Amino acid sequence: MLLNKYKILAQNPASEARSLWRRWPVAVAALPFFGVVAAFGIAPDTVPEPVELQHIVENIELPVAPTAPSQETFWREERIQRGDTVASILSRLKVDDGEALNYLLQAKDVRSLYQLIPGRTVRAVTTEAGRLESLSYVNTDGRRLHVTRNEAGFSATEELPQTEQWIMQSSGEIETSLFAATDASGVPEAIALQLAEIFSSDIDFQRDLRRGDRFSVVYEALAADGEFSGFGRVLSAEFVNQGHAYRAVFFRDDKGRSGYYTPEGRNMRKTFLRSPIEFSRITSGFSLSRFHPILNAWRAHKGIDYGAPRGARVRVTADGVVSFMGRKGGYGNVVVVRHPNGYETLYAHLSAFGQGLRKGRRVAQGEVVGFVGSTGLATGPHLHYEFHVNGVHQNPMRLAMPAGPPITAQLRALFDQTAEPLLARLDMLRDTNLARLD
Ligand SMILES: [Zn+2]
Repeated sequence: MLLNKYKILAQNPASEARSLWRRWPVAVAALPFFGVVAAFGIAPDTVPEPVELQHIVENIELPVAPTAPSQETFWREERIQRGDTVASILSRLKVDDGEALNYLLQAKDVRSLYQLIPGRTVRAVTTEAGRLESLSYVNTDGRRLHVTRNEAGFSATEELPQTEQWIMQSSGEIETSLFAATDASGVPEAIALQLAEIFSSDIDFQRDLRRGDRFSVVYEALAADGEFSGFGRVLSAEFVNQGHAYRAVFFRDDKGRSGYYTPEGRNMRKTFLRSPIEFSRITSGFSLSRFHPILNAWRAHKGIDYGAPRGARVRVTADGVVSFMGRKGGYGNVVVVRHPNGYETLYAHLSAFGQGLRKGRRVAQGEVVGFVGSTGLATGPHLHYEFHVNGVHQNPMRLAMPAGPPITAQLRALFDQTAEPLLARLDMLRDTNLARLD
């Protein structure tokens, strides 16, 4: 956009250009401009051959207005490229100022400029003749270097960019898969994965999801100096699965420990995860499948089979110790983990084991113990998962033992205060969601 303005300057009488500079919206030339600008950028008073221009009116947003210009000043922004030097950047920024170049190459307090990380931007304000008025650059630790001209020459300051947190919210309904629904609602992938993680002790996103399930999510987006810099964390979420509503709120206590809690203050983290298959875009479309065992004897099937592509990550569902790891008959490559209180889980048909895994090693809930395969008696890649209580196979789906500590009585007031506005947003999202369905 700045280049557009420059072009106007080059192709119009100077007076007209000056009035355009101040007026928004402005007329800009709708022509390819990069090469043209490069051609007359350095000598703007060289008026080129008249070119037939098509003028369109556009709203243009200035990044920052030039600071109190004593004369006409120009804002330019350049993206750093591999191999750039301070001199080459200045040249592209149309800075034609030996004093400025000397200062930038010698002053100690502008050293961070030399990092010149490709992809970052440098912004400069210059006069029409290329005299540098100010320059800014965000260095690796996120601080903005700001160089300004003063009576004595130049001075440099470094400051942290103004960071902002934007609160985003979205809701949707499941038609086919969680990703299809989050994509349709414009929820970024990183947030969809967090959503699945937060409810991973309550909902198996591969097997439990039903058409008509609904979600609402409130999350952070971060910005530095007014520019979007990434998505943060989920602040609150609701998932209505098969008619049952689960709600979670993020809370950080006074000691910096953080986690997700129900509105009543119970910890969302349970002793066992609902699914040993890591939820991801590649596994989200798969569901419980019947892999017909090859042998009749194998039919006394004491486990749950998860259809998943070869190589999908298999994670241990609770903290424990590896009690077996290796090849074992029809199980193929198998990992058995012993947990406290007589629980044991088994992961079979693996194509490979988790990195560094061995018998006797402690594993933490969610740690990758292997990868989906079809070793042993398996007709196709899938995970065979068993859950034993005191040596007897049980259905893990009936267990929902809380693992993380709840909100303590002394933190209750602070928790309620934090949770209230986040839960109010979920109420609002639920209402709009339901209204849309009517
Ligand atoms: Zn099986």
